[in-house]
Amino acid sequence: MNDIDESYMREALRIAEHARGRTAPNPLVGAVIVRDDTIIASGWHRAAGEPHAEIHALRMAGELARGATLYVTLEPCAHHGRTGPCAEAVIAAGIARVVIALRDPNPLVAGRGLALLKEAGIEVVTSVCEAEARRQNEVFLKWVTQKRPFVTLKTAMTLDGKIASHTGASQWITGTAARTRVHEYRNEYDAILVGIGTVLADDPSLTTRLEGRTGRNPLRIVLDSEARTPLDAKLVVDGAAPTLIVVSARADQRRVNLLRACGAEVVTLGTEQVDIAALLDYLGTSEITSLLVEGGATVNWSLLAGGCVDKVHAFIAPMLMGGAEAKTPIGGTGFDSPQTALQLRDVTVEQLGADILVTGYPCADAE
Ligand SMILES: [Zn+2]
Repeated sequence: MNDIDESYMREALRIAEHARGRTAPNPLVGAVIVRDDTIIASGWHRAAGEPHAEIHALRMAGELARGATLYVTLEPCAHHGRTGPCAEAVIAAGIARVVIALRDPNPLVAGRGLALLKEAGIEVVTSVCEAEARRQNEVFLKWVTQKRPFVTLKTAMTLDGKIASHTGASQWITGTAARTRVHEYRNEYDAILVGIGTVLADDPSLTTRLEGRTGRNPLRIVLDSEARTPLDAKLVVDGAAPTLIVVSARADQRRVNLLRACGAEVVTLGTEQVDIAALLDYLGTSEITSLLVEGGATVNWSLLAGGCVDKVHAFIAPMLMGGAEAKTPIGGTGFDSPQTALQLRDVTVEQLGADILVTGYPCADAE
């Protein structure tokens, strides 16, 4: 590994970003081909079912690939997908050296691509910019190893920790820049989750609204033990995106049938309350790789208490609301002391307009 390898790998990581939010359930992958200290070709994986990043780059390079170095952010695959194994294409193109950021995390195929390349006499270097690659594909890594979506908790509160006034008024606590950022997240995540309290209070559409460009709407999920979602709720009737209503066994079957008749998908998971772990398993099996939680205090606590949160985005507005009864982002029983509270690591702080965004990863989330 050297500085030159790192700089070309950073370029591969950068172009992989073009497809963020579009490759599920596949990872983000970028590739560049370098010859005589010049990038002669590049490519990135655009969407599931389309060619892998290496194939795009090899096609662009053509005969010039012979003797060149390939930088790719993920180990080339050895399995027969729609475009055949990338490792075989790399060998056939005459690539002399392959630099890889991340080994394939899928236990079923890990190392096979590397072995094929090495058997063909290609020099292979691994773990270049591995930490960046791991962060870039945090969603895919979670899903492919645990078959559950990567869960991000998003909260927005005033400087004194309120998500609404004592009357319940909450629009708007954060400013335009922060709200735009939330729509960018919705554009990237496969699904968005709220509780029935949020649906009853705000009747949200939970769609992606981006200035000047078309976004993609995530699957909308409502935690609704008793099937209380109104039949005329926006997310039931607007047809903007699929809606999944998750109820428990105590939900009234007549209401469940009515919700289904209105176009919502309804699943029963759990006896009294919705079983969060079962929901995450269900979503993972349905190839939902990422979940943005925008729930109220109760939903947020149930995800946190279950140890189900992988990442936190906390928006803080420079506004003081007050009110002993005004709601805070996380309800439930709460943790007993600062010592047992959930700590975040790898914390970053951004300013968005007048607001602050704190992002971090719960420490309990073992790598
Ligand atoms: Zn491949």
